[in-house]
Amino acid sequence: MARTRLLVSACLAGEACRYDCRAKPDAAAVAAVRAGEAIALCAEQLGGLPTPRPAAEIVGGDGHDVLAGTAAVVTIEGEDCTDAFVRGAHIVAERAVAAGVTRAVLQARSPSCGAGTIYDGTHAGKLVPGDGVLAALLRSRGIAVTSVRGTSPESSASAPV
Ligand code: SF4
Repeated sequence: MARTRLLVSACLAGEACRYDCRAKPDAAAVAAVRAGEAIALCAEQLGGLPTPRPAAEIVGGDGHDVLAGTAAVVTIEGEDCTDAFVRGAHIVAERAVAAGVTRAVLQARSPSCGAGTIYDGTHAGKLVPGDGVLAALLRSRGIAVTSVRGTSPESSASAPV
């Protein structure tokens, strides 16, 4: 059996796993999973976080800093959820490596999946350069990461009402 080479964010594949219990599907990601060419995983759910869950952002750096222990992931309610984010990222990375993944297409701006740009930690909608926790870990494992913005929930036919 051919080994999977692509990882996609589960919400891009149409799973309603976002913090607000919605999906953010991307047509190419959905098609790749349906064709058996990609695996779809959600680091935050695999880390043990519930859905829905409070929005979270990285405070004090980006995902590389979180993995180094010098930044934290904090919810809009002020709860530190760093351990769950790190745990989930490691689970996804281990599964990706085991599946032979060499490339990942991840949801933009997420504190886990964001690649190149994330929110600044103030929950004010401000963006800064940086990677989410999962994106940072995948890069450290030699997996190429691409950032994609899925369809907005409001315009998605597959999003829950
Ligand atoms: S962006 Fe990543 S961690 Fe967030 S819901 Fe989508 S798959 Fe899960």
